[in-house]
Amino acid sequence: MNIRPEEITSIIKNEIEKYEKHLKTEDSGTIIQIGDGVARVYGLDDCMEGELLEFPNNVFGMALNLEQDNVGCVLLGSEEGIKEGDIVKRTGKIVEVPVGDALVGRVVNALGEAIDGKGPIINDGYRAIEEPAPSIIDRSSVNEPMQTGIKAIDSMIPIGRGQRELIIGDRQTGKTAIALDAIINQKGKDVICIYVAIGQKQSTVAHIVNTLTEMGAMDYTTIVSSSASDTAPLQYLSPYAGCAIGEYFMHKGKDVLIIYDDLTKHAVAYRTMSLLLRRPPGREAYPGDVFYIHSRLLERAAKLSKELGSGSITALPIIETLAGDVTAYIPTNVISITDGQIFLESELFFSGQRPAVNAGISVSRVGGNAQIKAMKQVSGTLRLELAQYRELAAFAQFGSDLDKDSKMRLEKGKRLVEVLKQDQYTPMDVEEQVMILYAAVNDFLSDIKVNDIMKFEKEFLEFMDTHHREVGKAIIEKKVLDDEVKSQLEASIIEFKKIFLQGA
Ligand code: ATP
Ligand code: MG
Repeated sequence: MNIRPEEITSIIKNEIEKYEKHLKTEDSGTIIQIGDGVARVYGLDDCMEGELLEFPNNVFGMALNLEQDNVGCVLLGSEEGIKEGDIVKRTGKIVEVPVGDALVGRVVNALGEAIDGKGPIINDGYRAIEEPAPSIIDRSSVNEPMQTGIKAIDSMIPIGRGQRELIIGDRQTGKTAIALDAIINQKGKDVICIYVAIGQKQSTVAHIVNTLTEMGAMDYTTIVSSSASDTAPLQYLSPYAGCAIGEYFMHKGKDVLIIYDDLTKHAVAYRTMSLLLRRPPGREAYPGDVFYIHSRLLERAAKLSKELGSGSITALPIIETLAGDVTAYIPTNVISITDGQIFLESELFFSGQRPAVNAGISVSRVGGNAQIKAMKQVSGTLRLELAQYRELAAFAQFGSDLDKDSKMRLEKGKRLVEVLKQDQYTPMDVEEQVMILYAAVNDFLSDIKVNDIMKFEKEFLEFMDTHHREVGKAIIEKKVLDDEVKSQLEASIIEFKKIFLQGA
């Protein structure tokens, strides 16, 4: 065989030209300090804020403090068996959760892992838990109602789809009850609900899961739970995880209702985390950016524009106050971010007015646009008359002689208050609310005893359902009380009153 040197040199040259280094680099660092669920890692030079880090034993962590010579991170699992000197690897990913239709009906933790024992979830993909909120042009104005099924709220503090309405009150004033009723009321209304439990007892969450299952509400609900026994970082992450799960549905054009129960515990978890990371404490020992953790979460609630599919996320954050003090740091922050507040008061709660909504100081800044006209017609004077009643009632306590007009107002006010009472787990359709409120506002109840009002309401609505279904139907179809509907409604109220007063 004839070997030609040119051929060999050309092959060698070619090889040299094509030579490339195939080195796989893996960014990793070493733990220099670990304890209390917080670690400092040296050597993660290109690490991103919020990046997921892989610790030994399949435990993950999240980078939060990017400092000059080390990275402060929180562990999302147990730190057992992890020690100084261990290797930490970058994943190049921001913390994300699985999303998809399969999450509906499930109970998951802050990382989207199933904790209901019903097996793994087959997800459609992942979403980063921190996403920028939709921009101004991506949004449309709030124009569709999100019915809670609670008379006091739907009439006077209406909520629209895409709105953020705060539920605020002391402990044990029925905050969670309102949120759960709102979820139960979405049955058959094509709304996906997400309930985020932050730092609650596991037994409480189990009770909520049971209640929603019994009510048939788990068919369209996902529960994201980080219990009191979970680490502070997991509690901190859970609302963002819940929001990411909701965004998946919103971007598919669906309407989502999300409850954050509650953001006071969320702020406390963030404070714990920040103090362990040695961030400087500010007012009430919260770190300086505690406002931002809530504003960027609540800004993600939106009503998307038509071009983006008209989906929406309605957020009902819950805040617990101490002795009704709404001027504390976290309550004032969240009040300023939301589009309105529902104030609950222990005094009302214990005096038997449940839901204990203080209609005088509760507001909804955008929901009125979304209310149907028929409801606006009946609720217009309701708020005013209640306010007048409260003033008069305070005055009448002194036992002074009242004129006839004031006495009448007092009697009417008592009946209005009674009509606004509502048991837990009995959300009401909007046409039923309109019918009973119409009766109350237009003085049809003045000859019914105050103690009989609840019974009257129940039997009246049953009567309307069996004998005059067309009235309710007309309200829904026309969305307004025109003269025809009004006269039909009045006639049926009078007809029923005859029956009721005979029986009484
Ligand atoms: P916590 O501060 O413990 O979270 P909370 O403010 O969420 O309490 P709930 O747990 O919703 O309050 O309600 C407290 C109690 O009041 C519960 O036992 C609940 O069943 C009852 N309750 C709430 N709303 C009503 C209502 N409309 N009618 C009757 N009982 C109610
Ligand atoms: Mg509660």
